Amino acid sequence: MVNAEIGVIGGSGLYSFLEDVTEVRVDTPYGRPSDSLFLGEVGGRRVAFLPRHGRGHHLPPHRINYRANMWALRSVGVRQVLGPCAVGGLRPEYGPGTLLVPDQLVDRTKSRMQTYYDGEPRADGTVPNVLHLGFADPYCPAGRKAALASARARNWEPVDGGTLVVVEGPRFSTRAESRWHAAMGWSVVGMTGHPEAVLARELGLCYTTTTLVTDLDAGAEAGEGVSHDEVLKVFAANVDRLRAVLFDMVGALPAEADRDCPCSRALDGLDPGIELP
Ligand SMILES: [Zn+2]
Repeated sequence: MVNAEIGVIGGSGLYSFLEDVTEVRVDTPYGRPSDSLFLGEVGGRRVAFLPRHGRGHHLPPHRINYRANMWALRSVGVRQVLGPCAVGGLRPEYGPGTLLVPDQLVDRTKSRMQTYYDGEPRADGTVPNVLHLGFADPYCPAGRKAALASARARNWEPVDGGTLVVVEGPRFSTRAESRWHAAMGWSVVGMTGHPEAVLARELGLCYTTTTLVTDLDAGAEAGEGVSHDEVLKVFAANVDRLRAVLFDMVGALPAEADRDCPCSRALDGLDPGIELP
């Protein structure tokens, strides 16, 4: 049965041990997503897993087809998306292993398609209208609540709120950039949180991110700056409890009939000009 209600964008470590996982290849008007969708059941809910960087992690953040990814998830029935990601901490107190559930986002990416509604004819001849959607609060309030409660239940006290600044990558920040991000009062820095959140909003999907701090960003300490090895090591040390929190979150998300957050009404009164899957 090719359907799911919740999407989880994350690596193969999240779904590889589930029983009865169905691999589904999906094509979209925007091309292929990062990989197949892997459909399975978590806590009685149907979940579609999508490896953000492709299996084998071959896609750097700026080459991910974010539009295809979100479209593919919606096309199998997904209406709520969890998009966990690894980040650098911008304050000394947000050291490696910190779990922060952001409530704000700053876009510092440069080359990514971040809308479906650009008035450009698509390959099938249909033309989306130009729309300007509200994005003042980029994350789903119900999803954030589920994230915070699930982390606390696992004795992993999360940071409630903060600003995720998303940079283009794939390089890490310079010290000057990092000091600037911190001076602006932003909390954590990553490379994949945008445009996932805004594309979800444009499709009327709920989107929640949980960020795992894997390193202190270059300006937040006097050390050597970030290394990729360090990031992988911290991620590996935390992957089990991150998976536990994510799976609890899946179970804690509202049922489709009980979804009453603003995300689900994002397109009310608007005409996309194209049919959503
Ligand atoms: Zn929502």
